[in-house]
Amino acid sequence: MIGLREISMFTGEGTERPWITDGRGYATDRRVLIEFEPVDGMDVGEPAALSSKVREIFGNAVITGEMAPVPFVAVPTCQKCRGRGIEPSGRCPECYGDGMVEWDSAYHTYQAECQTCEGSGIRGEGPCEKCAGKGMDTKSIRVKVGAADIAAKHIAKICQLPNARIMHPAEYTTQPVLFTFDGGRGVVMVLRAHV
Ligand SMILES: [Zn+2]
Ligand SMILES: [Zn+2]
Repeated sequence: MIGLREISMFTGEGTERPWITDGRGYATDRRVLIEFEPVDGMDVGEPAALSSKVREIFGNAVITGEMAPVPFVAVPTCQKCRGRGIEPSGRCPECYGDGMVEWDSAYHTYQAECQTCEGSGIRGEGPCEKCAGKGMDTKSIRVKVGAADIAAKHIAKICQLPNARIMHPAEYTTQPVLFTFDGGRGVVMVLRAHV
């Protein structure tokens, strides 16, 4: 059985909520779809656009290969912002990032805190450009699952489900791949091979 925390990993960016069809719960982030036993207190929304295709999606999932535990993957933190999701948006133009400004007089050099950046040397903070403020390096990291390539960020979520097992396809495929966990199942999209 999974709980609200696990379900919330697979809902969209606040736009879609889990839904119930024929007594089964569903959630999707549009790349991963899970089917599970509905949970008390679940915030249920309207069925997602693909709800009528759920049967077909599971029907098309790859089921030839070996069903084996999901590899553990932790998505690495973004190196640029060190996982904070925000970064300095630029060096202060007044002090060139020093945080201090200097004046020369005939006899002395005076130093004072830069007024523009209040001594920080940076002009402000904004979402990290590399990770779009997520704090995780989610781009271009793929995990080999049998003959399929799957984005590490998906596997990092799926491996947190209880007793998660995933089909390791025997051959290259572009079809979604089936996985199972205690109380439910799901499918995950695969990445196309590098050309
Ligand atoms: Zn970042
Ligand atoms: Zn400054």
